Amino acid sequence: MSANSAGERAVVLGASMAGLLAARVLADSFAEVVVVDRDELSGVTTARRGVPQGRHVHGLLARGQQILDELFPGFTQRCVDDGIPTGDLGTLRWFFNGRRLAPAPTGLICVSAARPLLESHVRTAVEALGTVRFLEGHDIIGPVVSAGGTRVTGARVQSRAAGSSAVELAADLVVDATGRGSRTPVWLGEWGYARPAEDRIKIDLSYTTRTFRLPDESILNGDLSINPVASPEFPRGAFFSRIENGLCKLSLTGMLGDSAPTDSDGFLEWTKTLPVPDVYEVVRDAEPQDDATTFHYPASVRRRYERLKRFPAGFLVLGDAACSFNPVYGQGMTVAALESLVLRDHLREGVPDPLRFFKDIAGVIDAPWEISTGGDLGFPEVDGKRGAKVKMANAYMAKMQAAATVDGRITRTFMRVAGLVDPPQALMSPRMIARVLRNARIADTGEVRKAA
Ligand SMILES: Cc1cc2nc3c(=O)[nH]c(=O)nc-3n(C[C@H](O)[C@H](O)[C@H](O)COP(=O)(O)OP(=O)(O)OC[C@H]3O[C@@H](n4cnc5c(N)ncnc54)[C@H](O)[C@@H]3O)c2cc1C
Repeated sequence: MSANSAGERAVVLGASMAGLLAARVLADSFAEVVVVDRDELSGVTTARRGVPQGRHVHGLLARGQQILDELFPGFTQRCVDDGIPTGDLGTLRWFFNGRRLAPAPTGLICVSAARPLLESHVRTAVEALGTVRFLEGHDIIGPVVSAGGTRVTGARVQSRAAGSSAVELAADLVVDATGRGSRTPVWLGEWGYARPAEDRIKIDLSYTTRTFRLPDESILNGDLSINPVASPEFPRGAFFSRIENGLCKLSLTGMLGDSAPTDSDGFLEWTKTLPVPDVYEVVRDAEPQDDATTFHYPASVRRRYERLKRFPAGFLVLGDAACSFNPVYGQGMTVAALESLVLRDHLREGVPDPLRFFKDIAGVIDAPWEISTGGDLGFPEVDGKRGAKVKMANAYMAKMQAAATVDGRITRTFMRVAGLVDPPQALMSPRMIARVLRNARIADTGEVRKAA
């Protein structure tokens, strides 16, 4: 694709993961791409104000990692060369309902960087393209619309430096990647359009996170992470990961208003209430490197742009601005990556038609949204409609997770589905169902000991 086949300039609002990945594919079709963010970005490898969730453990799903390697050849190797720990997704210490999944190599690589470092690697790769310009330290005031409001023709931005005034950036395409707090619904109202309907699942989730250095890493037995995942039976969860520079991060998750304390003693005590002792045993003698911080996440929110009848030309929305998922499923960055591939396909025909684009990204949002909201609805206290499909899926997931404790092949298939590499149907083939039911029985009755 030639450099300016879709237009002269695209402007991306927001320089986090979704904005960076959009910029990467836009660079193939526009002579210039300008990415605007309120934060300073150059050389930043620590959490920044505009992405406060960056302090908390982030896992990039396997499909997201594959897409990064496709968009930036050699990406994973550069992370490895930079000293970021990696491991096979199927051999991490996963616990569901207090039971460890049987480890099984999947061939899927997990790159265990803290979120700001991962983002800085992506940003460096985007900067290297040469045609993407970053307007850091700039507030986004809003898109500029044509008279009559039928088309977005640019964006108004303002430097945060004292005495600056707003400037207008003309653009053939403006992409809103400003995250969950996106103002597009408000702007649409101001321009005389309907606002998108919202699906909301209220979960009142909390992440409380602290960074540690282990006095002796051998306590991990070589494992990259320890993840007792929250479930209705054991609603307290944790993600413990080795990260760069010999450090480890621990995020403690609480559902429905529950939240781990931030003081040292309270934080450690809370790890004892997890369904397995592994996390407590690893951190009890570890040296804290920072104070614990909490992030409250009230609800998963999906904005249904694909259902609108009218939308201004020259304007798109993606990433968390379109759909913000319960973070415990680790889907947000990978869905942003999948959406960037949709954008790349649409750009082959020039500036994308927004409503067609929204229909196509709805296609990549559907499966992860069903996985995460289906899981959330397994908690009886979470409000929402539970149709037969959700009830059956949750009953089957419980069996599948039990079966995976004794059968590594099931772990492997589960990891490929949860990693968004394979569709959920991969868990539903007649052979897999038979395998799941047989092994769930073995796991639940202890027959496994007889078999061994
Ligand atoms: C606690 C927590 C844990 C998570 N864990 C995972 C995980 O394990 N795996 C995973 O894939 N995802 C995870 N996520 C989700 C993930 O963080 C997001 O999906 C991801 O960052 C992509 O979001 P985004 O780029 O769309 O928006 P954001 O990351 O929210 O970025 C929006 C950007 O827009 C800028 N911006 C916004 N408004 C303005 C303005 N007016 N002017 C200028 N700049 C502006 C901000 O500075 C920021 O850079 C987690 C989220 C949370 C809350």
